[in-house]
Amino acid sequence: ASSSGQAHSFRRKPVIIIVVGMAGSGKTTFLHRLVCHTQASRICGYVLNLDPAVMTLPYGANIDIRDTVKYKEVMKQFNLGPNGGILTSLNLFATKFDEVIQVIENRADQLDYVLVDTPGQIEIFTWSASGAIITEAFASTFPTVVAYVVDTPRASRPVTFMSTMLYACSILYKTRLPLVLAFNKTDVAQHQFALEWMEDFEAFQAAMRSDDSYMSTFAQSLSLVLDEFYKNLRSVGVSAVSGAGMDAFFKAIEASAEEYMETY
Ligand code: GDP
Ligand code: MG
Repeated sequence: ASSSGQAHSFRRKPVIIIVVGMAGSGKTTFLHRLVCHTQASRICGYVLNLDPAVMTLPYGANIDIRDTVKYKEVMKQFNLGPNGGILTSLNLFATKFDEVIQVIENRADQLDYVLVDTPGQIEIFTWSASGAIITEAFASTFPTVVAYVVDTPRASRPVTFMSTMLYACSILYKTRLPLVLAFNKTDVAQHQFALEWMEDFEAFQAAMRSDDSYMSTFAQSLSLVLDEFYKNLRSVGVSAVSGAGMDAFFKAIEASAEEYMETY
């Protein structure tokens, strides 16, 4: 949130975790895993679903956009396609978001985390006015962290890795909130390659050169920009399916929340 310059007296809790990522990266499954983890660890998590189009959720949401906004009726009423329907539903919900903040504030003493699931198509949340309004409403009230879920097997080519990271970079600069990269699906592909590429610029350049994409030269220049970006984030490998990496994830969230408290 671009809340710089404003004087806030933040509560320490709950920490808001906004889960974003490309469609199919595993946001919903990951959220389910986080819910299980919090329950097993006696941490109190509260779940907010912001995807109006999801049919069934594996977890029980405490607040669900679908209770307030009927996505299919919105599509009909405004004569919209699927993406327009999701965006308009989110807009309608955003107008009442102060009520959501109020509900969370009323329970703040009992809550450790609020886990926020976002619509399948990432840009509907990250690049919409309502997404910005919702993010800002959280960030001006509670410590707020963005968790960017990466489909690790799909990011294993240098060029796809780079576009994934550029998107993460754009989210960091748009939200100005601490960002945690959750390399998901490590049960299918380990994320070591990603850590290596982020730590060692030469290694990434070498991988890029061996990839015969026509974008290579351009991509090599862009990777210089990314090297700077990597210094501003935390990354962990997770598997929403196996449950690997949950402790590391919450450690990264705690460190990010600390950073938030110091910065905002
Ligand atoms: P969303 O669109 O980002 O909410 O993604 P979903 O949670 O709906 O997951 C998309 C697909 O990825 C589903 O088929 C999941 O079963 C699968 N998936 C999610 N997380 C993992 C994981 O950690 N490992 C594996 N192997 N598959 C996963
Ligand atoms: Mg989902």
